[in-house]
Amino acid sequence: MTKSLNECIVPTYPTIQALDVNALEPGEHKFWFAVATDAIGHPQTLPVRVFKGKQAGKRVVITAGVHGDEQNGILTAQKLARELTKKEIAGAVTIIPTVNLSGIARHSRDFHSAAPDSSSANLNRVFPGSPDGDDASRYANSLWQNLLKPNADLAIDLHSQTSGSAYPLYVFADYRLPDAIRMARLVNPDVILNDPGDPGILETVYNRADIPSITIEVGIGRYTDLTMIDRATQGLLNILSAYEVISGESNHQQRECVEGNHIVSVRAKQGGFVICHVELMQKVTKGQVLATQYNSFGDEVEVYTAPLEATVISHNVESVRAPGSLVVRLIH
Ligand SMILES: [Zn+2]
Repeated sequence: MTKSLNECIVPTYPTIQALDVNALEPGEHKFWFAVATDAIGHPQTLPVRVFKGKQAGKRVVITAGVHGDEQNGILTAQKLARELTKKEIAGAVTIIPTVNLSGIARHSRDFHSAAPDSSSANLNRVFPGSPDGDDASRYANSLWQNLLKPNADLAIDLHSQTSGSAYPLYVFADYRLPDAIRMARLVNPDVILNDPGDPGILETVYNRADIPSITIEVGIGRYTDLTMIDRATQGLLNILSAYEVISGESNHQQRECVEGNHIVSVRAKQGGFVICHVELMQKVTKGQVLATQYNSFGDEVEVYTAPLEATVISHNVESVRAPGSLVVRLIH
């Protein structure tokens, strides 16, 4: 018996190679965006949702899953989409919840190349990519040229800490850009870092293309954190209402937020098992013990202390630490 593909497994939405939200009819749209082909020539397609308003307004692009093991960002993007199905929109909101297909499928931070002469790559260091580069670079370039850049007046990229470590709700914003500071504070996060950016990072590439952008870190790497997802989703709704993309008051329940210019990472001096003694957002003094490291016999081999007075914004949750792995990150 011939059976066509089950619609529940692969919904039959239109497949597109480029998106122009200006030309869409008002309403909700779902597409497969054909970002690239794989090594045997099959299309790689990723889900795109567009909420287009009848009224003109800001066009906001929200991405998640650029790092494949940062599932709380993906879950935030999906939850926001479910919230927006109930709302009246002005302008457009484009949501791409699963950017790095090869990484997400492997629970891995990286983009995984099938080219024999390429290694896996950090996709968030290769934007805007190049049409003549390796497969990671071409993938990033297709996203940037055909999907992200043409449809964004404002942009938000959702991440989390990488596997093995935790973050609070933490926003990167370039303080030279008033819209970036405004969006960051509307998220109502625990921490904001004034970050001028680095080449290849999607947020930086947006900012340099005059599209104000922030990166939001939604808690812990890999494992589901519903409290953080709820807070990040509310933060995105705050931004959308402040920019009048959706109507209604933003949530003004402002919490204490640490804004800093510098981070210091305390890294494992050698391999071994690290037990952390501090919590997220804990204030520490210079010399305070942060973590203890044990060797495979269980004997203490190292004690890590705070190099300065600061606030803890990340710590390991997986004890096994390779030399140079993150133990604790501080902001001041
Ligand atoms: Zn990330």
